Amino acid sequence: MPETNGHDAPRVGFYVCHCGHNIAGTVDVAEVARFAGTLPNVVVSRDYKYMCSDPGQELIITDIREHKLNRIVVASCSPLLHEHTFRVATEKGGLNPYFFQMVNIREDVSWVCSDHDAATNKTLDLVRAAVRRVAHHRSLATKHVRIHPDVLIVGAGSRESTLRSRWPTPGRRSRLSRGSPRSAGIWRCSTRHSRRSTAQPAY
Ligand code: SF4
Repeated sequence: MPETNGHDAPRVGFYVCHCGHNIAGTVDVAEVARFAGTLPNVVVSRDYKYMCSDPGQELIITDIREHKLNRIVVASCSPLLHEHTFRVATEKGGLNPYFFQMVNIREDVSWVCSDHDAATNKTLDLVRAAVRRVAHHRSLATKHVRIHPDVLIVGAGSRESTLRSRWPTPGRRSRLSRGSPRSAGIWRCSTRHSRRSTAQPAY
């Protein structure tokens, strides 16, 4: 199958996972699949018991080939858990793995919402957004870069001693720059910044 360049008309395959009762016990997965099938660009829409299982992944691979899909969306659990699994399945079907979009409807919906209708409606909103988003994905290549493993700690006080107790880990050296309150302020700012950055993916 020829690799899409990302500029072809999107042909989206959509899959919603039951995760046993983890999702299907709260979210109306049949309704989600039906709804996704009505969205623009969606060619295939299915619900399945366990999407991360071998048969679940095989569904994606087979559909890409049989329906000439060029975008994949899976509504299931946290990307932290199975984004890589589904990217690999997307690649096995013949697509660039980044033509895949995951929607977290377990940790973000079914595990935190007991109202059946509210959970289903929230899922429909998330699915609509993901289907729109995946049409804008482009082919990407993974790049490996070397990084310097040592750590520079700027500042002083209790945070410094906490960090010093964590490093050096094997193969990593730490260097301390004791400074003025101003440099400690810089450290506080960078801590706040890195916390905000870490939270960004919203898994
Ligand atoms: S893909 Fe995630 S939500 Fe679906 S069965 Fe596997 S662990 Fe559960």
